[in-house]
Amino acid sequence: MHIDHYAVIGNPIAHSKSPQIHTHFAEQTVQDMDYVRLLAPLDGFQQTVFDFHTTGGRGLNVTVPFKLEAYQLADIISPRAQRAGAVNTLIFHPDGRIEGDNTDGIGLVRDLLYHHVTLQDADILILGAGGAVRGVLAPLLSEHPASLVIANRTADKAVQLAQDFSDLCAPRTRLHGCGYADLSGQTFDIIVNGTSASLSGELPPLPDDLLKPGGLAYDMAYGSEPTAFQRWAQAHGASLALDGLGMLIEQAAESFYLWRGIRPDTQTLRISMR
Ligand code: NDP
Repeated sequence: MHIDHYAVIGNPIAHSKSPQIHTHFAEQTVQDMDYVRLLAPLDGFQQTVFDFHTTGGRGLNVTVPFKLEAYQLADIISPRAQRAGAVNTLIFHPDGRIEGDNTDGIGLVRDLLYHHVTLQDADILILGAGGAVRGVLAPLLSEHPASLVIANRTADKAVQLAQDFSDLCAPRTRLHGCGYADLSGQTFDIIVNGTSASLSGELPPLPDDLLKPGGLAYDMAYGSEPTAFQRWAQAHGASLALDGLGMLIEQAAESFYLWRGIRPDTQTLRISMR
């Protein structure tokens, strides 16, 4: 029997939950495929991709620290990957060309909508201005929030991001970039943490009354325990403080769809992975 090969490539990679997710999707939709972890040397991303491709690989998910290199390597870049400036999914076409796409942003928005979060007319704050934030700005703006404020430790990066996406901003949406000190006096319905601070148990310096009563907090990071940001949100009036596991599952489902043309159901996996 012929099996199509897929993998997630990164360094480190042992912690990745992607094989568990895609194996579940493949079983559910009865696809003849396998999906493994692929460790690339820090200076050997391109070679590892080409080796995988020439030995029958059909597609890759790309994680830290290779999303920019994947962008440079791809022959075709999807519009949303162009906007994100990064690639998290590689598709190996039968004609030999490699296409790069980015499913992180749609993953976040699908997870928020799954939790019945209303983005339209909401005041949204996003913390951080790195690759993950760049990837989610376009899909968030397409939901027409009342405001989208980007706050970052290095304020200039947030200001630049707001400028870079101003053409996607509906006239009634306020898009603004700033540093954390500029947040005092403002309140938000939704705060999304897209910094990597949670990975080291840290928290950006946030004013106490930043979240409107009953507002929602979302940390793109995830772990076996609530993150520092989720704990902060719970202590500051959040009705719900989510982690990024749902985003991970939804971005994987979108990658699976790009490769196989079938949308897997994410509901059972959401339950089993909790
Ligand atoms: P980057 O390295 O590109 O960006 C990191 C960002 O975090 C920068 O804005 C940086 O600020 C900020 N930062 C880092 N440390 C601190 C700190 N101690 N205090 C305040 N700000 C800090 O990372 P990514 O954008 O790729 O990833 C960000 C997060 O998103 C990670 O936790 C990652 O795991 C998560 N993620 C989750 C996904 C999912 O599917 N759930 C998908 C993709 C990412 P500065 O610019 O000042 O350095």
